[in-house]
Amino acid sequence: MPLTNMQVRDLENVVHPYTPLHKIRQTGPMMLDSGKGIFVRDDQGKEYIEAMSGLWCTGLGWGDEELIEAGIEQLRKLAYYHNFAGKGTEPQVALAEKLKEVAPVPISKVFFTSSGSEANDTQIKLVWYYNNAIGRPKKKKIISRMKAYHGVTIASASLTGLPYNHIDWDLPLDFVKHTTCPHFYRFGEPGETEEDFVARLVRDLEELIAREGPDTVAAFIAEPIMGAGGVLVPPETYFPAIQQVLDRHDILLIDDEVINGFCRTGNWWGAQTMNMKPHTISSAKQLTSAYAPLGAVMIPDFMYEAMEQASAKIGLFGHGFTYGGHPLGAAIGAKTLEIYQKRNILDHVRGVTPTFLKRLHALADHPLVGEARGRGLLGAAELVADKTTRRPFDPKAGVGAQCAKFMEKHGLIVRAIGESIALCPPMIITEDEVGELFDRYERALDETEAWVN
Ligand code: PLP
Repeated sequence: MPLTNMQVRDLENVVHPYTPLHKIRQTGPMMLDSGKGIFVRDDQGKEYIEAMSGLWCTGLGWGDEELIEAGIEQLRKLAYYHNFAGKGTEPQVALAEKLKEVAPVPISKVFFTSSGSEANDTQIKLVWYYNNAIGRPKKKKIISRMKAYHGVTIASASLTGLPYNHIDWDLPLDFVKHTTCPHFYRFGEPGETEEDFVARLVRDLEELIAREGPDTVAAFIAEPIMGAGGVLVPPETYFPAIQQVLDRHDILLIDDEVINGFCRTGNWWGAQTMNMKPHTISSAKQLTSAYAPLGAVMIPDFMYEAMEQASAKIGLFGHGFTYGGHPLGAAIGAKTLEIYQKRNILDHVRGVTPTFLKRLHALADHPLVGEARGRGLLGAAELVADKTTRRPFDPKAGVGAQCAKFMEKHGLIVRAIGESIALCPPMIITEDEVGELFDRYERALDETEAWVN
């Protein structure tokens, strides 16, 4: 198809993240124009089920009038103010109070950013600041996992454990050490049970800490369920086992809830779903249902006390972003959390989850699907060349990307993470819409199978 005028103008002017830049000139970008509920339309009028909530973020779907009104009202009242030099705004206070109320562990204060990457960058800095404040200047290394995704700034991309965020970017920086990914289907060894696998991961972690020196390791960062790594669900016993090691070496646990947070996995927090007891928490995305950019770092008492002491030593707390906790994002965030509560979004998620997971797990019977996995309204099916041996497709064949293209043809937007085809629909999705989503998904899988063979 010839490119439209808008596609040409886009290609001449815009850089597209996470896109094969060498190919997009031929394929052109998909230009999105409008959205309502779980649906979006492109500029040619074609409608899609947006089964990824954009980038795992529009939890309340598109066109929610209450959220829109909250934003407009705030812009009219006070379009901008910051919280540097002791200033504050009411929406930030309301949102911080609400976050503390729903937090999975006791929280003292909330530090606002504009994004998940900034939240995770801030986590690293706070851990360093804290350890300096309490007289442990050597304890600075951060452990992350292979296949993790924690953002793209220099520090958060270092936490990320994906090759395309490191190769040719001169990353990761060497304060980050990556340990084994807890995805049993891919990283379990032949003959190993899930229990053996967890025991091996614990040994790997112990060895890494011993090699680096426990007095140099400050924190371990983890998403409860790894989203952008391919929706990788760890074994149930993984976090309790890992956490025993961390506790023994006085290593903090940073919980990245940027995707998992706010009812997505069937609980307010992924930490609750995966049995994790974090010290600090990063959130963003569904914090505002993505109606405005916002991130939040949730800080426990013992860290805030150390921050106060350090500030007394130097004269101030030297960290903050111009748009961190922007009144627009904060007002929309406070309204989003209010809506999650008053519309019982958690109950709704729990209500549609059995249908979602039943249809998801049924995909495992398809000849192309090696594993179908998920929790709550978050899932993925991993396409493989051979189901028995779990042999993956050659990445160069582009099977995942082609499958996503077929899905788009059938009016379904998904995310191909390699050959894992991810789903994260707006949490307002109904049972009928779940059914329609999977009908389209299955049609595209069949078409992919025909294309592969
Ligand atoms: N952490 C996780 C778990 C994420 O999935 C993402 C983004 O997808 C980030 C951090 C980075 O957030 P942002 O893109 O807002 O910087």
